[in-house]
Amino acid sequence: MSRQRLGQHFLAKSSLLDRIAHAACPEPEPLVIEIGPGHGALTGRLVPRSERLVAIEIDSALVERLRTKFGGDPRVTILHADALETDLAQWGPAVIAGNLPYYAATPVIEKTLSVNFLRAVFLVQKEVAARLVATPGSRNYGYLSIRTQLFANIEALFDIPPSAFRPPPKVDSTVVRLRPQNRAAELDIQDPVRFLAFVSRCFRQKRKTLRNNLATVFAKDVLDRLPLAGQRAEALTIWQFADLYRLLYHREPGGQKP
Ligand code: SAM
Repeated sequence: MSRQRLGQHFLAKSSLLDRIAHAACPEPEPLVIEIGPGHGALTGRLVPRSERLVAIEIDSALVERLRTKFGGDPRVTILHADALETDLAQWGPAVIAGNLPYYAATPVIEKTLSVNFLRAVFLVQKEVAARLVATPGSRNYGYLSIRTQLFANIEALFDIPPSAFRPPPKVDSTVVRLRPQNRAAELDIQDPVRFLAFVSRCFRQKRKTLRNNLATVFAKDVLDRLPLAGQRAEALTIWQFADLYRLLYHREPGGQKP
């Protein structure tokens, strides 16, 4: 993969690196996993805030430089690996942080949500941040918003302009913080994978009503009796999706496959 494809835009502004490190670890943490450490600018600020830091970098040239820079520090492990192929749960509950390559932001966040993370702070493309934190009625609200908000409380902390990076990217960035929150339990959803498949179907064609998006799966009379069937998915809260899901799948013996 080319350097550009790997998202190698290095954050150069010291005060912003400090803010990200502080957001990730306001207090010292037992374990921090950093995704994509690059030249180690954020790593250097996370090390004093963690008892152990594992930094996962895919680029072998950068790994060599990182090993030279942090090699003598017993708290630091530099892992030469693809973070998308790495089991992030293997070291136990961790704070996860990183200035994410843009192509990998969504899959890294998905991976984070599937492990026992203590807190996660990521720098992502501003548009991705808008989708992660979006609420009903916003044009950014969609499957990714529900997917994320089912397992985390998420906040957009601050924006970073292209000029803060070397070389500057073409887009604005935003730092987001995720805290684990098992909303599936609160919503009484036993099978989150199945629930998310249902949500994905509801958003299949954003401009269409729920009735239209669900017409291939449910009979007309079922949809005619369904509250909110005339609405678009983008208008529904996560609670309303959960109500619909329970109505459609739980109350019918055997349910139907989403
Ligand atoms: N953290 C550094 C900073 O803030 O200056 C660098 C961030 S740069 C946006 C993204 C980094 O992630 C690069 O060092 C790139 O090589 C690395 N990277 C890209 N894809 C990766 C992957 N799949 N697994 C691990 N690292 C990856």
